[in-house]
Amino acid sequence: MAFNKKTIEDVDVAGKRVLVRVDFNVPQDETGRITDDRRIRAALPTIQYLMDHKARVILASHLGRPKGGPDPKYSLQPVAARLSELLGRPVPLAPDSVGDQVKAQVDALSDGDVLLLENVRFYPEEEKNDPAYAEKLAALADLYINDAFGTAHRAHASTEGVARHLPAAAGYLLKKELDYLGNTIEDPQRPFVAILGGAKVKDKIPVIESLLPKVDTLIICGGMAYTFFKAKGYEIGKSLLDDGSLDFAKRVMDEAGEKLMLPVDVVAVDGNPFGGDPDALHAETVAADKIPAGREGVDIGPMSVRAFTAVIQGAKTVIWNGPAGIFEIDRFAEGTKGIAQALADSGATTIVGGGDSAAAVEKLGFADRITHISTGGGASLEFLEGKTLPGVAALQDK
Ligand code: ADP
Ligand code: MG
Repeated sequence: MAFNKKTIEDVDVAGKRVLVRVDFNVPQDETGRITDDRRIRAALPTIQYLMDHKARVILASHLGRPKGGPDPKYSLQPVAARLSELLGRPVPLAPDSVGDQVKAQVDALSDGDVLLLENVRFYPEEEKNDPAYAEKLAALADLYINDAFGTAHRAHASTEGVARHLPAAAGYLLKKELDYLGNTIEDPQRPFVAILGGAKVKDKIPVIESLLPKVDTLIICGGMAYTFFKAKGYEIGKSLLDDGSLDFAKRVMDEAGEKLMLPVDVVAVDGNPFGGDPDALHAETVAADKIPAGREGVDIGPMSVRAFTAVIQGAKTVIWNGPAGIFEIDRFAEGTKGIAQALADSGATTIVGGGDSAAAVEKLGFADRITHISTGGGASLEFLEGKTLPGVAALQDK
């Protein structure tokens, strides 16, 4: 599965109009202010390379989920402003992603200039991978570079369709993501530890199935763990249960044997953590098999953190997806913080995938001590599941 696609360095970009699909789908607050510009910063190496090599750079991205037409709420204007700051030069925003006016703007570009197209999802054709829309996008450029790892698991017009019409290669971010994730699962330095948390077992079944045979230790924590506890016959009170995955949990426990680690203690509360002031709840750390009826498990306890930390300390490769508790509530972020701390302190290659997990690591301040934080939530999961990403498959082979 070694990366065998053409990259930006395999194509001649000088003087060419280069359409770059980036993932500028950044989180914003109610006022439109960008709350995390990691995805914009992650695309800079590709953009900078193209500018330095005298390409005429045309950037395309989606933002949010506009409902089938232009909507100022989902305009890429704030992104254009932030990108201008980061590049130290103005990046104009085109009024649209295709059409005559955009074409004229592209024609006016000089070598090394950058233009950002407006949100491609203002066209429903984008997500339908409509061939006519893909062709219109392609008509703007001589070359296509895909650097949008976060959207590579979707066959959309700007991620897949357009690659049928232009010479197509990978940008630096796409290559970096695939190198890290690909090398890790293909040929990991051992011991190889996977930590899977988050809410729903069902969402993580394919990744558990794909990673279990490859890892030396599989840690299952977060809301997912309670379905495993239930399958063991423990009382789980009001903790998260994925009823339909009980048989799967039993099978994983049988197959994994000693390889599988579950939390040994949990933090249980006496009311709905989202029902009001979480600080008003009574929280108690209990053994995993002693959750009182009526209580809800919201985080892993300190003994679990110590046990997981010991395993992480001995590992050479660690991959983590899914928070250990309801980390959005500060009080219940301790377990997630403990795991993040263990990854930050370890000498292993550490990889974090998943939107919420990446956000947790950022929020808790450990981001710069993790080897690689994937910019793709769904894409990193699908890749770890062993699926082919359409946005990658569409690129030209080396
Ligand atoms: P990622 O986006 O990194 O793939 P997921 O989306 O799978 O992660 O899971 C993140 C969610 O899991 C968070 O919103 C978090 O609150 C939730 N979660 C973690 N532990 C629990 C728990 N014990 N009970 C309920 N929800 C939990
Ligand atoms: Mg998530």
